[in-house]
Amino acid sequence: MKIKSAEVIVSSPDRNFVTLQITTEDGLTGLGDATLNGRELAAAAYLEHHVVPLLIGRDAHRIEDTWQFLYRGAYWRRGPVTMAAIAAVDVALWDIKAKAAGMPLYQLLGGASRDGIRAYGHASGRDIPEILDSVREHLELGYKAIRIQTAVPGIDAVYGVAAQPSAGGTRYDYEPAQRAALPAEEDWDTRAYLRHIPTVFEAVRNEFGPELPLLHDGHHRMTPIEAARLGKSLEPYDLFWLEDCTPAENQDALRLVRQHTTTPLAIGEVFNTVFDYQTLIREQLIDYVRSAVTHTGGISAMKKILDYAAQYQIKSGIHGPTDISPVGMAAALHLDLAIHNFGIQEYMRHGDLTNEVFQQSFSFKDGYLHPGEQPGLGVELDLDAAAAHPYTPAYLPFNRLKDGTIHDW
Ligand SMILES: [Mg+2]
Repeated sequence: MKIKSAEVIVSSPDRNFVTLQITTEDGLTGLGDATLNGRELAAAAYLEHHVVPLLIGRDAHRIEDTWQFLYRGAYWRRGPVTMAAIAAVDVALWDIKAKAAGMPLYQLLGGASRDGIRAYGHASGRDIPEILDSVREHLELGYKAIRIQTAVPGIDAVYGVAAQPSAGGTRYDYEPAQRAALPAEEDWDTRAYLRHIPTVFEAVRNEFGPELPLLHDGHHRMTPIEAARLGKSLEPYDLFWLEDCTPAENQDALRLVRQHTTTPLAIGEVFNTVFDYQTLIREQLIDYVRSAVTHTGGISAMKKILDYAAQYQIKSGIHGPTDISPVGMAAALHLDLAIHNFGIQEYMRHGDLTNEVFQQSFSFKDGYLHPGEQPGLGVELDLDAAAAHPYTPAYLPFNRLKDGTIHDW
């Protein structure tokens, strides 16, 4: 089953997506996601100029061989651009293989290990009454686990907080990437944040009781000792996880955090290979793997990371905000359903325009996702709808401290 053609489609329905569509001589098509939020055209160019020409004529069934060829053959290994491009090829080939088999992809990964995939949603608020409203709204939508992010007194713009309730006044969807020629500037004060966050969790627990799983994202902003203090101060509120408490590239930082707190730790959305996790998994310094299938070399590589993590009772928490396209999301869901060490899946609903461009078979019901039973990934791309929404420059924000110093965002 030879590859006849491969096309890179950059579209911007609601936001930018980089999609690879591979077509075989038999007429089967497969989709892969290479979206790298804020740096989309780098991944698109890598695919178009350096990967697509190498795919033509290859056997579409040889997924592992093609993965190794693209990874080892480039000589320049790892990195988000390379690994997003490889991920797109890997997922598109899995899509084709499952379509050829006439099965939903999860069946080729070992079949279902559970009935549904527990998802967590993003609640946010500018103050405590707003966060309580936002949690209520997510409970009404069916979510069984909820991430809590709030504004901090004294800080003007904080990660994870919607600027205002969306249409209807009840949704607090947070979307950090902004369509503009330059990135937005936010501000940061760690001491104010450390004082405020425990009061937020106190209010949420008082309102909603002890059962509801609650999550929080520190977004890489703390030093190890600051993160240790936050983890300790949140212990009474029984978090499902504290995410990205320190900058992820410093694996040693988690050792100090771990010594001081039993709050479960999740990290890895900026990682792109198993090597980024070696210390963290072997020394059991984390509880959840946060990588995206889209940024980590695809289903083949992500499954290897999660199989390694399973030996240490570390579970999955696959990255799934709206900058993962419906194609990348579907890939995550098939893997979530099949693996044994599933933890939880991040899920933000895509906008209506995105859902017109990407027709999807996956569902969200009573707090659980399911990839559906269509052969392959269960996602089809409407090329005409995609063409109606061309690429628009957009960036993630950046942070400055009060004195003007750039801080981690
Ligand atoms: Mg995060």
